[in-house]
Amino acid sequence: MNPVLVLGGGPAGLSAAAELAALGAPTLLVERESYLGGNPQRWHYSLLAPDLRPAQEVMGPLLSRVENHPSIERRLSTSVVRAELRPKGYQVVLKTQDSTETRDVSAVVLATGFDHFDSRRKYEYGYGRYPDVLDFKEVEQMLHEDRVVRPSDGKPPRRIAWILCVGSRDVQVGNPWCCRMGCVVSIKQAVEVRQRHPEIDAYVYYMDIRTYGLWEDLYWKSMQEYGVKFVRGRIGAVTLAEGGSRLIATGEDTILSRPTEVPFDMIVLASGMEPGTGTKEAATLFGVPVGPEGFLTPRVSDLNPVDSGLPGLFFAGAATGPKAIPDAVTEGMGAALRAFQYARL
Ligand code: SF4
Repeated sequence: MNPVLVLGGGPAGLSAAAELAALGAPTLLVERESYLGGNPQRWHYSLLAPDLRPAQEVMGPLLSRVENHPSIERRLSTSVVRAELRPKGYQVVLKTQDSTETRDVSAVVLATGFDHFDSRRKYEYGYGRYPDVLDFKEVEQMLHEDRVVRPSDGKPPRRIAWILCVGSRDVQVGNPWCCRMGCVVSIKQAVEVRQRHPEIDAYVYYMDIRTYGLWEDLYWKSMQEYGVKFVRGRIGAVTLAEGGSRLIATGEDTILSRPTEVPFDMIVLASGMEPGTGTKEAATLFGVPVGPEGFLTPRVSDLNPVDSGLPGLFFAGAATGPKAIPDAVTEGMGAALRAFQYARL
């Protein structure tokens, strides 16, 4: 049996590869970056919502299942640059910096993931211009290193604000969808900051809070146990205060229906999820339909999110839309089973 190709080494791809190997299928795991683990690894995620478990505790076992399995051939810093449908499976061309190689594979799992929205596109928030405006992947790194300080002067902040829905639910930037994770990750970060530094005030500016299912619990805990303050409103702009040492968030408090202008030491933007570069490339290479948002479109998305409807091609994780890590891992397992069935027929 030719190997099953898993494209993408984030949580969904790792899960698919581990499952395929457990089923006894030879597996070819291709990742364009030089490491496995996807965005959680790239941005050094700290604790995961809602249980506040270290990301390493979740990702570590998944990584070691893949790294230690003899049936999984791992190809890092490698891209697929051509794909052709064959009577059974695909023929693909793999490319590294200095080589190309043609391989036959019996089925394909696309687990090409997402990219964080580039917050510089929301110019009015000053990301990239003001060092103390961060987006939440950078705060993950700070929390991971247990060093919450203002990048401008290395001093601990006294007041931090999180602005939700940056690059999501925003038709002006072409992203009308909800990122699904921005609320809960921001709340989780505010809780982490308050746990470690109760002297720091944490404010969250929101349109609505969307912490679906059991994750709502963390929202209530953040207020009742950790004193995180929530303000329903829209921040229209972030500017530097006179003297340049603080930031001013200007907007509207939509509960009080009045303008608001509040100083902060640090502002965190909850940047949304967009289709990853690899997802866009895979759509073209494999001729997969994409929705208006650019994510891959399953044949029957509300019944079966892993079947593409094309022969031998399956989806997993955030390649089809914003997704939490547990959902991505579960889809990785589902896609692996469907790919295995197809490859064995
Ligand atoms: S999950 Fe929250 S932050 Fe993200 S777009 Fe939806 S409402 Fe906004």
